[in-house]
Amino acid sequence: MKKFYVMAVLFMSSLAFNAWSMDFKAQKVSDGIYAYVGPLTDRTPENLGLNDNIGFIDTQAGWVLVDSGGGDVAAKKLESIAKGIKDQPIVAVINLGSQDHRWLGNDYFSKQGAKIYATDKTIATQTRMFSDLTASIAKKVPQLKGTKLKTADVVLNQAKNKLVIGGVEMNLNFYGNAHFPGDSVLWLPNSKVLFTGDVVYVDRMLGVHPWSNTITWNKAYKAMRKLPAKTIVPGHGAVSDWQKVDADTGDYLNKLIVTLTEEAENMAGVDQAVNANRNWPAFKHLEHYDSWHPQNLNRTYLRLESEM
Ligand SMILES: [Zn+2]
Repeated sequence: MKKFYVMAVLFMSSLAFNAWSMDFKAQKVSDGIYAYVGPLTDRTPENLGLNDNIGFIDTQAGWVLVDSGGGDVAAKKLESIAKGIKDQPIVAVINLGSQDHRWLGNDYFSKQGAKIYATDKTIATQTRMFSDLTASIAKKVPQLKGTKLKTADVVLNQAKNKLVIGGVEMNLNFYGNAHFPGDSVLWLPNSKVLFTGDVVYVDRMLGVHPWSNTITWNKAYKAMRKLPAKTIVPGHGAVSDWQKVDADTGDYLNKLIVTLTEEAENMAGVDQAVNANRNWPAFKHLEHYDSWHPQNLNRTYLRLESEM
């Protein structure tokens, strides 16, 4: 009993230490543009579910946030990061996707007076998946329980949507379904900064979920790749350039499609296709390679086979 108590105290104090030591700072990406770069781990109570990247754009009207975190507590943390850089209102939030940490903070920011922007395709996925997303993030990060559904006030329905907010031109572009259906990217032509949301992962292995579509994701990546970006803020991992982004996402998506199309055409069968491709040295440096790569092979093979 006593031993258990000591262990529990040690465990609790390590939690407290992590909560205290988690650094929620944003880094400068370009003039007036900042990014919070989340850890490569899963969502935890310490990181408040902010294991993704979030953008902060300083405009004449106030802050524009690129994505809003996984719920009220995460949104509040993002608000304090923004106000720590410059004390001005958050006037807009642009959602790049539908995964929990991209948009479940919308309700909080909306109540502070921000206008929410997203494409119709993103909103359709957000609405459809809302109850599953809130249930699953609340299991990992109990502080995020009780989020209310809030989708965009400004619904954009073109493949390329030009916005000017507070004098800054931004383009919310949809190239194709990727990690989630409706994933979009934000292109800032004047600074040549690209926020990719979950279309790009660097430093960690991207994840193919049952609702991800690797075929259209690969095509979307190639279309997006034409942008003359100088600085790329991926959905996950360090701020990068095209070379790094190609190496960690573009090349991997393309290899999945090329290799597994051949396997499916030869009717290899899913087990054989996965086993023959487990070892891809070019991508072994990516965090979570061992757990995600076989899963990605499996789901991509099955989709390719079903569409043949
Ligand atoms: Zn994500």
